[in-house]
Amino acid sequence: MNKKLYGKLIFELSRKGRRGTAIPEGMDMAGLETIPGSLMRGDVPELPEVEDPTVVRHYTNLSTNNFGVDTGFYPLGSCTMKYNPKINEEMASLPSFATLHPLQPADTVQGALHLYWLLQSMLSEIGGMAEFTLNPYAGAHGELTGLMVIRAYHDSRGDMRRTKVIVPDSAHGTNPASAAVAGLSVLEVKSLPDGTVDVDALSALLDDTVAAVMMTNPNTLGIFERNIPEIARMVHAAGALLYYDGANLNPLIGKARPGDMGFDVMHVNLHKSFSTPHGGGGPGSGPVGVRAGLEHLLPYPRVVKNSDGTYGLVCSDDSLGRVSGTLGNFAVLQRALAYLLTLGRDGLSMVGPLATLNANYIKESLRDLYLLPIDGVCKHEFVFDGLRDKSGGVTTLHVAKRLLDYGFHAPTIYFPLLFHESLMIEPTETESIDTIDSFISAMREIAEDASSRPEFVKNAPYDTPMAHADDTEAALHPRVTFFDLK
Ligand SMILES: *Cc1c(COP(=O)(O)O)cnc(C)c1O
Repeated sequence: MNKKLYGKLIFELSRKGRRGTAIPEGMDMAGLETIPGSLMRGDVPELPEVEDPTVVRHYTNLSTNNFGVDTGFYPLGSCTMKYNPKINEEMASLPSFATLHPLQPADTVQGALHLYWLLQSMLSEIGGMAEFTLNPYAGAHGELTGLMVIRAYHDSRGDMRRTKVIVPDSAHGTNPASAAVAGLSVLEVKSLPDGTVDVDALSALLDDTVAAVMMTNPNTLGIFERNIPEIARMVHAAGALLYYDGANLNPLIGKARPGDMGFDVMHVNLHKSFSTPHGGGGPGSGPVGVRAGLEHLLPYPRVVKNSDGTYGLVCSDDSLGRVSGTLGNFAVLQRALAYLLTLGRDGLSMVGPLATLNANYIKESLRDLYLLPIDGVCKHEFVFDGLRDKSGGVTTLHVAKRLLDYGFHAPTIYFPLLFHESLMIEPTETESIDTIDSFISAMREIAEDASSRPEFVKNAPYDTPMAHADDTEAALHPRVTFFDLK
């Protein structure tokens, strides 16, 4: 396929009268007359007229223009794009689950409720929390739910002055956004040069108007926040609660528990740490866990195990209410449980160490060519501040584009906002040494080209179906039909 002619070759394939099916001459069309005339259309619909191979090639070619974890290495920092084992997909498509209706009575869906309860219990153990709800649909939705739990907690004590949430300057953008959606205002706390939160600055912000402090650990710089126990003491002494953004749980799974560090409420991203495929907007799942004493505030329905061993749905009055239609994105829960059971306790405790080893290996292999603003051992990810040699004018965006020619997805770029040329790399634990070594070679070659022939790097990519999309034009004047493709 000539990818330059993308629009023409892929889309303008219709030829008048072409067919992929044939209805045998004289076939009995009896029964058609039972459809009421008012429901029958009067004219023939304008559909593409194509034969079978053309349709198959059209969709197959489109699918190969996409990049996914199944096609290549995807070191997208903060996103934990780990490989998703195919057994999880098989489990998620079991007909006995796939054909259930979300509103079926509890006594007819005991198997599904057992699955929900098992996963909820396992996450409680992994997080060191008393109970989890699996109802929220994504990480940000989990944050919102967690903050609603925190509001409900303060309200239940008649403490109505707490309207602020403290968020570190390195936090993911969803943290302040969720606080705003929960009706709370945001205070930012600065990070120290070593990348961790400034405890003194945090202390100065704490008073009786603060509802919660949101922390990510390891933070988005991949640095482990060592002062959490001290921060937890300060936050609790001020009457506020400590929230854990668990989207970065991957390096801690089976090794350290947010509940033991002093966090009160947390969420995890099943579509990151627990292997559900994600990207392009979903589907996700952002379960929320709470410490003992806050369970009753979780959203309903809650799944409980009855004394006779059966499972039931509970909608208690003191709950904050409903945050989802029913029990969340159920197929995502199935994948996560399959993942947990496949790895088992021993396998899970290897996830963090391997993810950490891979990240540090890449960091140490590239630091002579890329600027490392925060030194030291990282956890599962780390951030470069662009190339060391910036004399040729090659930016982080150029490096990211050039990587596509090597068949690698670009790392996260220009986030976190603490540096001008952020390049955030997260390899995950599921990559082989060979894949990681070839990524390192590509990054080294790009850095050398950036010094010796910068224009070559700046004009990349050369081998992708689309070379330079105009992001601004696409955002301001999106063309949503293919007829306009030039
Ligand atoms: C991905 C991420 C989130 C948000 O999760 P979504 O499922 O994308 O809503 C929040 N915090 C951090 C640190 C993340 O990496």
